[in-house]
Amino acid sequence: MGLVEQIRDAGVVGAGGAGFPTDRKLNCKAEIFIVNGIECEPLLRTDRHVMEQYAPEIVKTVRAIRDSLGAKRAVIALKEHYDKAVEALRAAVKGTKVELYLSESFYPAGDEQNLVYCVTGRVVPTGGIPLDVGCVVSNVSTVLNIAHAMNGQPVTEKMVTVAGSVAKPVTVTCPIGTPLSRLLEAAGGPVGDCTYIVGGPLMGKVTDDLSEPVTKTTGGLLAIPKGHPILAKKVAGARDAMLARAVCSQCSMCTQMCPRNAMGLNVQPHKAMRALASGNESLLGDVNGIFSCCDCGVCTYFACNFGLKPSKAMQQAKAKLAAQGIKPVKEVKYEPERGIDNKRVPTERLLLRLDLKKYDKDAPMGGFVDCADVRIPLKMHIGGPDEPVVAAGQHVSKGQLIARPSGMGANIHASIDGTVSAVTEEFIEIRK
Ligand code: SF4
Ligand code: SF4
Repeated sequence: MGLVEQIRDAGVVGAGGAGFPTDRKLNCKAEIFIVNGIECEPLLRTDRHVMEQYAPEIVKTVRAIRDSLGAKRAVIALKEHYDKAVEALRAAVKGTKVELYLSESFYPAGDEQNLVYCVTGRVVPTGGIPLDVGCVVSNVSTVLNIAHAMNGQPVTEKMVTVAGSVAKPVTVTCPIGTPLSRLLEAAGGPVGDCTYIVGGPLMGKVTDDLSEPVTKTTGGLLAIPKGHPILAKKVAGARDAMLARAVCSQCSMCTQMCPRNAMGLNVQPHKAMRALASGNESLLGDVNGIFSCCDCGVCTYFACNFGLKPSKAMQQAKAKLAAQGIKPVKEVKYEPERGIDNKRVPTERLLLRLDLKKYDKDAPMGGFVDCADVRIPLKMHIGGPDEPVVAAGQHVSKGQLIARPSGMGANIHASIDGTVSAVTEEFIEIRK
């Protein structure tokens, strides 16, 4: 069986993003294969642990992917201060022609488009993908899942960092479908009255529902004390338009600091604020640039001195354009700015600005978190939900296929041995 088929059978999806099926991404020819081990969101530690622990497996898998793509170069990108991971990878790449790219610590260094630009000097166009400039990018945890797929093991586990206001920050491995509450227990529980962010502090989603399950794309769980200012910035509010009208000075600092704008993609959040404030969509300016916003949040969490949320205005504008059936046109509007390096936001300064520096601690490996009752979502990928191939009452073994895609999607496998206790349109529940 070829590599792409092995990946498809194992149900591998992008572990660090929206869950794009990896077999589809790698079923092509490309010039450069880039492994994203940057993990640009502060406080998360998963990818560096993966590289520290599995460096030989990762390099072996990268070589297999490089050969499958017919790529001339294979590059593993990580931050230069990940000392142990750098050391492990340096030893593993010796004599292989796999390159390492060591990045400074800035946000959003791990943004796919930024990474392609840093490694190759090429800009992925608005409405395009890295393959448009000859590149394929995969997250390092995805590469580890491919390594397992090559050994016939499907995706049944996820490594997750549990950090923030918890007794003992930790990085654990758990079965897919484990409730978030189990992860929190592994970290010794919350300190204080907390709300939770699933993912990183900037791009993660706020939840108070700890029965939510770990999915193939969950990278982190952060406990944040209620009332912390970052929580208010994470949700669009009814007063946002009024505040934009009353407070936004159109200073354009949000646009000047936007990393996608600096690459020449004409992303202009101050114009989205202008349109939101006036309720006049014709003031959005170049609508094509809006599609290049990656929701990194630099404009909201760092650039705007008035505490406004231009990234939310961009999200709303993008959703409206999509609802109107407007699609992006592939283009790179301008040359990247000459001072692009000087506009990068050091992660340290970002943490201080967000009042999260106190949580920037090690989250050492804490082993495997066992779970006797998992709820596995049928949609952990781009596309519609999978179709179950098991029924309630049926016994299943870990690694057994339990759902398969009807269109775009990826196979889903049992993450523990047990009995199927429920099958709905949204999930399959298994009890040990
Ligand atoms: S949203 Fe903030 S940074 Fe952007 S133009 Fe308005 S005041 Fe300036
Ligand atoms: S969230 Fe803001 S800073 Fe980030 S890409 Fe979008 S407009 Fe630019």
